[in-house]
Amino acid sequence: MSALAAHLRELIAQEGPLTLERFMALALGHPSMGYYMTRDPLGLEGDFTTSPEISQMFGELIGLWAAEIWVAMGAPQPLRLVELGPGRGTLMQDALRAASVVPAFAGAIDVHLVETSPALRQVQKAILARSGAPLSWHGGLETIPPGPAIVIANEFFDALPVRHYVKSEGAWRERLVGLDNHGRFIFGLSRTAEPSIRAEAPEGAVIEICPAGQQIMNALAGRLATQGGAALIIDYGYTQTALGETLQALKGHRFVDPLAEPGEADLTAHVDFAALARAARAAGAIVHGPITQGVLLTGLGIFDRARALSRRANPAQTAQISAALKRLASSQARIEVEGGEVDGMGSLFKAICVTAPGLAPPPGFETASP
Ligand code: SAH
Repeated sequence: MSALAAHLRELIAQEGPLTLERFMALALGHPSMGYYMTRDPLGLEGDFTTSPEISQMFGELIGLWAAEIWVAMGAPQPLRLVELGPGRGTLMQDALRAASVVPAFAGAIDVHLVETSPALRQVQKAILARSGAPLSWHGGLETIPPGPAIVIANEFFDALPVRHYVKSEGAWRERLVGLDNHGRFIFGLSRTAEPSIRAEAPEGAVIEICPAGQQIMNALAGRLATQGGAALIIDYGYTQTALGETLQALKGHRFVDPLAEPGEADLTAHVDFAALARAARAAGAIVHGPITQGVLLTGLGIFDRARALSRRANPAQTAQISAALKRLASSQARIEVEGGEVDGMGSLFKAICVTAPGLAPPPGFETASP
């Protein structure tokens, strides 16, 4: 048993069952033993992979996107270029390299990385040191200096803890994590009903909400609305709030039981883009989209970029570029890759752009403006 599992068992033995939300928050973010705190989970040897790790095209297009928005904003100086949950720093590295074709943008930015994991901060430092951009790290949005900002978040919101309410005996009850007679983690339900939820639903229905995501979006949108700027949020998720649960655990690129190995598997939930959009609008910002990742990347010119890269590539690299293009942008649900099949990200992943009022529709979102 992992040290974190032992700690959680002890906690439950002393205090009683934890809410699912607290269990997930500790499994991922316990200061010394949480999943993200102790490792670099990305890549082939890790547990999952992400768009910037699949191809440099992803970060490059986002870098050019940011430079274009900055021009549309009236080229403010300084500009805070912010990334939430930067992983290995790959997206930012590719974005900064691509955006260096607009020297005035490169000269205007300082880069702010919101990252809780000490292990990943080290990886980001090593990769981004060569970029020449002024870099600083933050535990949250609050410490980022004021002023106009462009914010990027890829696969950040799915990593925030969710809360489940289950319709049981006619009432909505919060999902808990307790221990069975053998000391294994099991799901249970709170005895007390949650009075604030009024939704009608059949027995057994589940409501999944992500209060942390809504809080962060609310604060972010409030900042953008008053100080200027835009945020690009990309993640797997759904566009209409609906009943149902999407909590999942990944270890070594395979789905595992979310309760089996807290701290050793990545726990995530699909992002409710409608809920994020509501939180952003409530704070006075404008929301563009959601659109699919395929529509976004096509609009930003991924096909041209792939052709340009292929012209300078050998046959093996050309094959790699076209496989990455398909995986990132095609709307097919499953994509064949060497050695098997993977999820296509083109329609599973969605994007919204949250902006200050008065900004023109951002590149890629022209057909999806509010
Ligand atoms: N954006 C990267 C990594 C995605 S993994 C990519 O696309 O490759 C999720 C990232 O969010 C990791 O860097 C993780 O450490 C970070 N993270 C998770 N929860 C966080 C939180 N509450 N605050 C800040 N960063 C967090």
